[in-house]
Amino acid sequence: MDLQNFKQAFSIGRTVNLQCDCGKHFFSTYGQDEDLERPLPKDTENTIFTEHDIDELVFEGKHYSDYCNCWHERAKNIMGFLDSHHSAIADYLNAERKRLIKSAKDLHEVSE
Ligand SMILES: [Zn+2]
Repeated sequence: MDLQNFKQAFSIGRTVNLQCDCGKHFFSTYGQDEDLERPLPKDTENTIFTEHDIDELVFEGKHYSDYCNCWHERAKNIMGFLDSHHSAIADYLNAERKRLIKSAKDLHEVSE
């Protein structure tokens, strides 16, 4: 079980400005020159300035910052489930694949 592997699998890319699901607002100052081409957000207790761009993770329909720890416990629970049921999960995915292929083949072809 490795949070880094989970993070890599569920990252959708890097960004400079992200509100994590927990409400914290992450803002990258990387590459910001003194002219502030991007206006800084208000400096509140929920605003966190980072020196690097932010990896955005998405799972269960929620968006998270890699700088935040709020998603770690949920990720550990998900990894535990995946690790302890990988054979059943593979069976399920293969069965779903077959079902979806059959369903697609049953559709009528549309002509132009
Ligand atoms: Zn968070």
